[in-house]
Amino acid sequence: MSLKIIGRFAPSPSGRMHLGNVLCAMLGYLSAKSQGGHYIIRIEDLDTLRCPRSNAEQIFDDLDWLGIKFDNPKFIFPENEQIKTELLKIHKDIINSIYQSERTQIYECFERFLKNKALVYPCYCSCSELHAASAPHLSDGRIIYAGTCKNLTDNERKQKERKPAMRLAVPDKKMTFIDGCIGKYTENLTIECGDFIIKRSDGVFAYQLAVTVDDGLMGINEVVRGNDLIGSTARQIWLHNELGFKPPKFYHMPLLVAHDGRRLSKRDKDLDLSKIRKYMKPEKLIGILACSAGLIEKPEDISLNELIKTFSWDKIPNKDLILPDCFKANI
Ligand code: GLU
Ligand code: ZN
Repeated sequence: MSLKIIGRFAPSPSGRMHLGNVLCAMLGYLSAKSQGGHYIIRIEDLDTLRCPRSNAEQIFDDLDWLGIKFDNPKFIFPENEQIKTELLKIHKDIINSIYQSERTQIYECFERFLKNKALVYPCYCSCSELHAASAPHLSDGRIIYAGTCKNLTDNERKQKERKPAMRLAVPDKKMTFIDGCIGKYTENLTIECGDFIIKRSDGVFAYQLAVTVDDGLMGINEVVRGNDLIGSTARQIWLHNELGFKPPKFYHMPLLVAHDGRRLSKRDKDLDLSKIRKYMKPEKLIGILACSAGLIEKPEDISLNELIKTFSWDKIPNKDLILPDCFKANI
């Protein structure tokens, strides 16, 4: 029997969905469904100040408007006995929550597991990357940590006054994987990434740990997301292996760019669904996006169900996707 595909959409609800998010949700859904798989949603709201519950509810409403139906997640525990025993003590409402902000106890359990493996150390540097809870994007640039706090003695640690962040020591290892869109990708974790934060000094878990733990527990075997996240993938694959999960297959899809080649962002208010839903039917928007992604030839009205029948990753080019002119006429 072939493996059942389980894909996911994992938005950070820091605002209204914009066209890039819509395309990501569409491609993830089409890929999973065209293979007879499941598609589930997880809300990445670790940063609760930036991600209020009302935003998540708006995202559910927008996805429903688009016609994306989600399957219920099934949480599976990893083989490791220590982790399993600890997870069994956690209330099932927490285990089954799709909101990362409610899953802290789970992340703590995995943090302890990594501590037992001597992979975690406290970092007292003031540059504790306040934004570590949100997904880093390529354009953010990346600071490679120099390892300043790695070999502090217990005494030196006691003298520190700040509350530390927690870092994970990466191996000096070349990671290679085949991305479904980009192809072969290699990264040396020590040189190109460095020891990274898994918990901020204010106690909030970082994106890299939470995303890996949750993809693992939810049995995700297909991840579709923007190619601005390719730089996170090597460490997530390494973490999957360390935690006893099988890493998913990744598809880092090309980004949607404006007519002038500019990347769409949350700042492009005209391109978020609050505006678009006022004047456009979902079939029209789906048709425009499907056309810009190479799935259909003309931007004609179409439903997701219709697109499932002919979906193929081969049709999607490995270069920026430009919003077609017909869209420009509407904004
Ligand atoms: N929550 C992340 C974001 O919205 C995406 C994480 C992922 O797909 O791995 O940028
Ligand atoms: Zn440090």
